Amino acid sequence: MVFDRKEYSKNYYKNLTKEQRNKRNAYSRGWRLKNPEKYKASKLKWRKNMGETKWKALCKKHNKKWSNYNKQKLLEDKKNCFEAYGGCVCKLCNFKDIRALTLDHVNNDGAKERKTKRLTGNHIYSYLRREGYPDKHRYQVLCFNCNTIKEAIRRENGR
Ligand SMILES: [Zn+2]
Repeated sequence: MVFDRKEYSKNYYKNLTKEQRNKRNAYSRGWRLKNPEKYKASKLKWRKNMGETKWKALCKKHNKKWSNYNKQKLLEDKKNCFEAYGGCVCKLCNFKDIRALTLDHVNNDGAKERKTKRLTGNHIYSYLRREGYPDKHRYQVLCFNCNTIKEAIRRENGR
């Protein structure tokens, strides 16, 4: 049998345990952060060797895969988050469609939080997941309508 280098490395990565793979990934992540210039250069080289058409096709494939994955992950995070803070239902009007539900800051301190923790848009859901859903009294689930109305009332009162 002829030694097939490509086949060998494929099997090598396939046979790694999860632990080994995580270790490798963590190492290369660290390397990328420490050597951004080198990483950029190697990426460009790879791209050049591969050819522009092939590269673009690969990018497209990966982007699609990632965006689908992220969408699913986001929905999951959102759902779990709502469940943790009162359920997938608007607290004020009982509206139940998750697509129009949002997490509201009970004390209107969302702007402060966005500034100090850089939590914008959907990042709050993954952030709260990582934190183990703390401060149950600080968040509530509202639909966009009730949220907008709440915000309008707050502005009218000049608070
Ligand atoms: Zn509502």
